[in-house]
Amino acid sequence: KARVFKFGNKTADGNSTMKNLLGGKGANLAEMSSIGIPVPPGFTITTEVCTEYNLLGKEAVVALIKEEVEASIANIETQMETSFGDKDNPLLVSVRSGARVSMPGMMDTVLNLGMNDEVVLGLAQKTNNEQFAWDSYRRFIQMYGGVVLGMKPASKEDIDPFEEIMEDLKEKRGIQLDTEFTVQDLKDLVYDFKRKVKKRTGLDFPTDPWEQLWGAIIAVFNSWNGDRAVYYRNMNGYPADWGTAVNVQAMVYGNMGDNSGTGVCFTRDAGTGENVFNGEYLINAQGEDVVAGVRTPQQITKLGSQRWAELAKIDEADRRENYPSLEELMPSIFNELNTYQDILELHYRDMQDMEFTMQNGKLWILQTRNGKRTGAAMVKIAMDLLKEGMIDEKEALLLIEPNKLDELLHPIFDPRALKRANVIAQGLPASPGAATGKIVFFADEANKYKSSILVRIETSPEDLEGMNIAKGILTARGGMTSHAAVVARGMGKCCISGAGALKINYKKRTLTVDGHEYHEGDWISLNGSTGNIIEGKVATREPELGGEFAEIMKLADKYGVIKIRTNADSPKDAKVARSFGAQGIGLTRTEHMFFELDRIKAMREMILADTVKGRKQALEDLLPMQRADFEGIFEAMEGYAVTIRLLDPPLHEFVPHQLATQKELAEDMHISLQAVKNKVAELEEFNPMLGHRGCRLGNTYPEITEMQTRAIIEAALNLKERGIICKPEIMVPLVGTVKEFEAQEQIIRTTATTIFEERNDTVEYLVGTMIEIPRAALMADLIAEKADFFSFGTNDLTQMTFGYSRDDASKFLPIYIEKGILKVDPFEVIDQEGVGQLVKMGTEKGRVSKPNLKVGICGEHGGEPNSIEFFYNTGMDYVSCSPYRVPIARLVSAQAAI
Ligand code: PEP
Ligand code: MG
Repeated sequence: KARVFKFGNKTADGNSTMKNLLGGKGANLAEMSSIGIPVPPGFTITTEVCTEYNLLGKEAVVALIKEEVEASIANIETQMETSFGDKDNPLLVSVRSGARVSMPGMMDTVLNLGMNDEVVLGLAQKTNNEQFAWDSYRRFIQMYGGVVLGMKPASKEDIDPFEEIMEDLKEKRGIQLDTEFTVQDLKDLVYDFKRKVKKRTGLDFPTDPWEQLWGAIIAVFNSWNGDRAVYYRNMNGYPADWGTAVNVQAMVYGNMGDNSGTGVCFTRDAGTGENVFNGEYLINAQGEDVVAGVRTPQQITKLGSQRWAELAKIDEADRRENYPSLEELMPSIFNELNTYQDILELHYRDMQDMEFTMQNGKLWILQTRNGKRTGAAMVKIAMDLLKEGMIDEKEALLLIEPNKLDELLHPIFDPRALKRANVIAQGLPASPGAATGKIVFFADEANKYKSSILVRIETSPEDLEGMNIAKGILTARGGMTSHAAVVARGMGKCCISGAGALKINYKKRTLTVDGHEYHEGDWISLNGSTGNIIEGKVATREPELGGEFAEIMKLADKYGVIKIRTNADSPKDAKVARSFGAQGIGLTRTEHMFFELDRIKAMREMILADTVKGRKQALEDLLPMQRADFEGIFEAMEGYAVTIRLLDPPLHEFVPHQLATQKELAEDMHISLQAVKNKVAELEEFNPMLGHRGCRLGNTYPEITEMQTRAIIEAALNLKERGIICKPEIMVPLVGTVKEFEAQEQIIRTTATTIFEERNDTVEYLVGTMIEIPRAALMADLIAEKADFFSFGTNDLTQMTFGYSRDDASKFLPIYIEKGILKVDPFEVIDQEGVGQLVKMGTEKGRVSKPNLKVGICGEHGGEPNSIEFFYNTGMDYVSCSPYRVPIARLVSAQAAI
């Protein structure tokens, strides 16, 4: 089988459908090459080789691919008319990672590979540019040193060992920018860099290009298992066995002088979705300079440049003179780039994120991929592409990443509070959103406060975990395509970048703006949509969900089959869920209602009562409160079914466990403290989750079931009198045997009949059960003969099928996932193989007895995209999820059916 795929000169061995094998970058390079986009020639070593490497180690893998790699290098040599390691006419290459999905900055890259003391001279002569040759050499040692030889900063307060040498030299020479180094400076840097390598690693810097190449290839494979990559993979649920491909490509140079440069561009705005070509570039620079945010880049289009100048408060003359757009500076290159961006967007039928380099006036495209974007941009782009006729309705729906919709549903700054806000500075609106939190300066301290804002001069991929934890990210340097900006947009996290007015001192842990000093722990707020940095806390409010969001949701409902209900315990939640498009309630957990202050007392009295009479008395106090709850919920869900579950948790959850509260209760109830203590001790269980809970409560204390049924039925009758239609569905929890259900059903029906007689009126209602004990799934045919509906409680079903306690699993699950024993947390994503069998069997058996049996699911999995798809395929009627997941579930419902 082929392990190495070549591309370049308008041909390629691979194509864009081969992402799993070639990685996203490799597949797209092949595709671009085939459709005539100028990409530097190169080759891709497949992701399978990465997996082979992990199994077999370096030597065996090198032996496996040596011949193919050598032949592929020869192919580049032919196309570029250069020769690898040749001192007169050298070929230099880049070595980059590329997994099947883009993982920006998470893995390693080495540029300018093939350099040594002789090659640098040849390159200088050939290009007639000593400055460029030596700058490339020092960059190579720096990258190779960091990536392959492990030359990293010693601690977080330290800077990169090579940067340190450069800073020292700059200070000595009284210069500020890398571009100000003279040829002699660069030669000195190369010399000092190599000495540093020798000192730190004990080894000479490798001079043989082939040794360099193999070192870099292996380093890229290793970076798949680096901390950053592993964290990113886990965060996104990408399995370890995907591996990364390695792309080796002829170098083209953006740092050859003023007629060269490099940049990143997007076919549409990744923050807002607006259909404007945009991006950033730097003259006389290599790619890493743009994303690393070391120099603040310039805008590609004139429009972008003008918008940027307005934010940066730079006047038009100054802008044209000092920060011209590429469109103005190099119109013909801009036009060519503009043509390619159109071709690529049309070809891939999605917004593209491209990297390019201009070498001596020739444009090369280094990469294209479907661009990362915010949730808002995602929705707008999908609808715009649909309206432009580029894609159809189904494709538009498939362009929506369900989980990203979440971003649109969360609070924004209250406009009234914003009016009073004290804006202390402004940066680039790199990723929209509203964030308020306490200042932290180091990524690994982001969890120091409940809400933190990570404030950095610039971020690097090492900061990923902290960026994810922080509520927002603020950087002093870097543009719209800096690491911070790209990663934040991918996470949907509010980010402001390039706020030049900020002076950050890591040692003192201070942020200074206009002479005002802020410290770690001080509150600040970020408005990621305007770039405003605001002192203190700013109030937030619910977002408005009109426009494209409403349009895409309407489309989703057109194609969606499985219905979406919500889990809601209060009228407020029910209203929110309904505004998000919920079609009924799949689970109301009644116990939550008993925790409110005035009720917990009555509840405790009920529990502490020693006689049925005493219990009934206490329950009578609870009845009107519970009835009022149900009236509110029914009203909020008018016209839709509402499933109400009878009391489920073990009673000991309601009694006080602290001495002070026990005393209070004893006084209130005029009983002895000892009596309270005795009762608490009596309710103590070794294993409450498998103890006296669920229908075991209703079966041992039938008066509880009676009271709850009465509250439900009376609430429904009361609403009926007011002309409001409600459809109660009474649900019995934790059923394991048919008899358990039957006994409860009888109480419910008898109570309802009594009330109908009392009131001389009736309502329709259903009595069904949860399927959450494995035995219930096994006995589903018998249970279905009695029950009107099933609702799978996949939380308990997962707990009991795996035998993992819901309350304790967090102690070992992360380790299981890290070790690959489990791929994902089964409490989050339904385990289709195991627990899924019970769900399927339960549904099928149930429908053997009752072909029209209504079946749903109300465990947490009801809001998880993969699980929803599975439930759809199982033939369920509905999934029920928390209110904020409802739009996500509606979308997945459509995607599953398409
Ligand atoms: C379940 O077990 O899946 C369920 C919905 O019930 P609870 O989470 O309340 O136990
Ligand atoms: Mg349960």
